[in-house]
Amino acid sequence: MICPSCASEHTRRGGARIWGVYLLLIALAVPAVVVFHLPAGIVAAIVVVAVVLAHLVFNQQVCLDCGHQWKR
Ligand SMILES: [Zn+2]
Repeated sequence: MICPSCASEHTRRGGARIWGVYLLLIALAVPAVVVFHLPAGIVAAIVVVAVVLAHLVFNQQVCLDCGHQWKR
């Protein structure tokens, strides 16, 4: 993937919304294990599935050089 803004090749999947999902998942997963004593393996599996789904839904790329974010 090449950045449409500055033509840099230093891009990766991600972006602000993906990070928001990561933070939300961590914020949910930690109390689920610590407070509600749900099995950590199951919680981890749900988190992984949710991260994959988030990438499929948002499908966002971010440029590491200029910070531009766009949808693929
Ligand atoms: Zn760029």
